Amino acid sequence: MSPASATLPAGEPPRRRSAHPQRTCVACRRTRDKQDLVRLARHGDDVVVDWDQTAPGRGSSICPDLDCVEQATARDAARLRASLRGGTVDQVLCALTEIHHHLESAQHSKEHNA
Ligand SMILES: [Zn+2]
Repeated sequence: MSPASATLPAGEPPRRRSAHPQRTCVACRRTRDKQDLVRLARHGDDVVVDWDQTAPGRGSSICPDLDCVEQATARDAARLRASLRGGTVDQVLCALTEIHHHLESAQHSKEHNA
């Protein structure tokens, strides 16, 4: 007779989930989950919008909100540029404009489908 030993199922050890990485929006300075922000990244000498958050290297984040993108002034762009350690203010503003267009068209298509 085998004793009904209370052996625990040898499952996977509980994986310790690290807290969501947090980033600060350059415009409103709110700290949010990294995945809730849009990342700007250096790509060579260029500054690109890292929509997938997969670009290597230094990056900087901003809320995907029109408010924040519109709020980001040339001064914020300069600060962004500093945290990216490269690029130009124009390139940062260009990337911000790209985000702005994206958000606007997303908003428009939402209105359109409503
Ligand atoms: Zn923000």
